[in-house]
Amino acid sequence: MARSAHITAVKGFRDVLPDESARWHVLEVEALDVFSIYGFEEIRLPIAEKTELFARSIGESTDIVEKEMYTFTDRGDTSITLRPEATASVVRAAIEHKLISADNERRLFYRGPMFRRERPQKGRFRQFYQIGAEVLGRDDALVDAEVLVLLRDLLARVGASGTTIELNSLGDESCRPAYRERLLAFAEERRDGLCENCRQRLTRNPLRVLDCKEEGCRRIMDGAPLLIDHLCEACESHFASVRALLDAAAVSVTINPRIVRGLDYYCRTAFEITATGLGSQNAIGGGGRYDNLVAHLGGPAVGGVGFALGVERLGMVMAQSAQTRQSTVFVAPLTDDARSVGLCLATRLRGRGKSVELAAGGRSLKALMRHANRSGAHLVLIIGADELSARRATVRDMRQQTDHPLSIDLDSSGQDLVEQLSRLGGAAA
Ligand code: AMP
Repeated sequence: MARSAHITAVKGFRDVLPDESARWHVLEVEALDVFSIYGFEEIRLPIAEKTELFARSIGESTDIVEKEMYTFTDRGDTSITLRPEATASVVRAAIEHKLISADNERRLFYRGPMFRRERPQKGRFRQFYQIGAEVLGRDDALVDAEVLVLLRDLLARVGASGTTIELNSLGDESCRPAYRERLLAFAEERRDGLCENCRQRLTRNPLRVLDCKEEGCRRIMDGAPLLIDHLCEACESHFASVRALLDAAAVSVTINPRIVRGLDYYCRTAFEITATGLGSQNAIGGGGRYDNLVAHLGGPAVGGVGFALGVERLGMVMAQSAQTRQSTVFVAPLTDDARSVGLCLATRLRGRGKSVELAAGGRSLKALMRHANRSGAHLVLIIGADELSARRATVRDMRQQTDHPLSIDLDSSGQDLVEQLSRLGGAAA
């Protein structure tokens, strides 16, 4: 039979291999701990929603809704979309299950895959992962600051290097429309110099012109009016409070008046976390305040604030030390008879929480030691014919290159084994 061509993954959908997922695991463990310290509970959301949810929340004229969603009609004729982000789902679920009311704050976090049909490149995929959190039911500046303190703590814990928190205010419905007109007038006058994409944005979403990456557009928009200079009094005072609170908490932020975020629901506080060394896709997270979203989706009139971190990009800037794996004990049975003893020893050690790699056995000592070396184990338990008859194993310390006898009592619980190994290998065991 002819060999068939192998099937590869779909473009932009990737496999997360063990080295990378080991880092993600560290990130998740730290994030879970930080979230619990700050009073957040986990919500697990479906990856598909009714299309209408995203059209209504993210905004009809955003890049995500216009160009990037994976939408299909199911056999029941319902239009379904693979979620491009999770804030809309969190809010939908909170309303559906009555998790929020006007006098009840709720803190929720989520993690999982998101789907956007963007052009794949370094750090940009069509299926990617986010860890995010939302505080629903609060509209005060204190909670905006608290969310940013949490982010600062989480980034420090995972050793994310070269990161900056960039902060802006997007105003609200009382100051943004007038600013939008001002910006539009400025950009219309310079329309011919703008890229094709931005010319279209002028009619649909002129604020997006501000964060276009094209050199020509950047130059033109350099002199554009900025929203932070045209905030209404309430937005101005909210923004000043957030900055003062962050200052008091020693969280350093950079004010970036060009942050617009790609989703319509944001108002007032908006932020992005960028990292050096990632190339053009340098945002590792973003978020902000959305005071009208809950009511807009049919819930009570309460505000909210939240963020999402891109796991792939954050994984790329995490400290190397965040990947250290627990050291493994390598069990090497040399003979067929030794294999059952090897399995018993491995089971007892694993029962005590030790990570054990059990080799197939029946190979030469030299071959087994080569294998042990590759595994990175610090201690190797060798069980050959001599060891079997003496009811012991030989422990080889791979770093010191020394051998030590280990008595094996197969009726014991395994604690004595762990203690003997600890004495031999110290921390390595
Ligand atoms: P957003 O929901 O667009 O604010 O995205 C939040 C974060 O998710 C970004 O800062 C990125 O780190 C990450 N992200 C967004 N889109 C992608 C993508 N297509 N591929 C990888 N990561 C992404």
